[in-house]
Amino acid sequence: MKKLIVANWKMNLPPLAGWKRNWKSKKADVVIAPPFPFISEVGKIIFGGALGAQNAFWKNPPEGDGAYTGEISPRMLRAAGVKYVILGHSERRRILGETDEIINKKILAASAAGLKVILCVGEPLEVRKKGVVAVKSYVGKQISADLRNFKNLWFSKLIIAYEPIWAIGTGRAAKPEDAILISRFIKSLVDSKFKIKNVRLLYGGSVNSQNAKSFLKLKEVDGALIGHASLSASGFSKIIKNI
Ligand code: PEP
Repeated sequence: MKKLIVANWKMNLPPLAGWKRNWKSKKADVVIAPPFPFISEVGKIIFGGALGAQNAFWKNPPEGDGAYTGEISPRMLRAAGVKYVILGHSERRRILGETDEIINKKILAASAAGLKVILCVGEPLEVRKKGVVAVKSYVGKQISADLRNFKNLWFSKLIIAYEPIWAIGTGRAAKPEDAILISRFIKSLVDSKFKIKNVRLLYGGSVNSQNAKSFLKLKEVDGALIGHASLSASGFSKIIKNI
């Protein structure tokens, strides 16, 4: 299967010029998630890649009545050409106070609107220091709560990104062995608990053009979620070429 490579531009002004090209690749499905105001502009210049969003609201009209100032529904994103949505990112959990309950509602609303969900999970440093059993327990609880009532029907749309918080934006990526261990754990949990067999599992956390290969060559890792290193079109393209 092709790897899935996702660019999360976060709240950065996009350097649009370098991105105008064909991103189609034999090795990877490419997703670019710009900040909301730039989604349609980016959609006009990237060919062969898919648009992602970095967040979505937890209701879709007509169930929601539209009176949610400042929010953007999954259905609106679909209408803007978006195919994927990143939910549960640790920055939103930590800074914006998103709980597993909120993330769960967002996942259900996004799936109902036909978006492919990229659910982010991962442990903080204090949990990592306790060892792998503690990490599995932490990540397992996140997944069980976030996917509550998630139906098998949407299996092909579920993607999980394992992003240890201590590795995000720190330049200190996890060891590939850790990514293997947690990927296997997540895949087996999602299979046994939610009967979802082919979840795509991404690794995220300080992936760049130098270390990407050590993750992307692993059969347990189906792709990468890339923050900082995805801001440069040439660096991002190098990651894809290196698969
Ligand atoms: C992220 O924010 O999802 C991420 C992986 O960031 P970075 O690549 O900068 O660590």
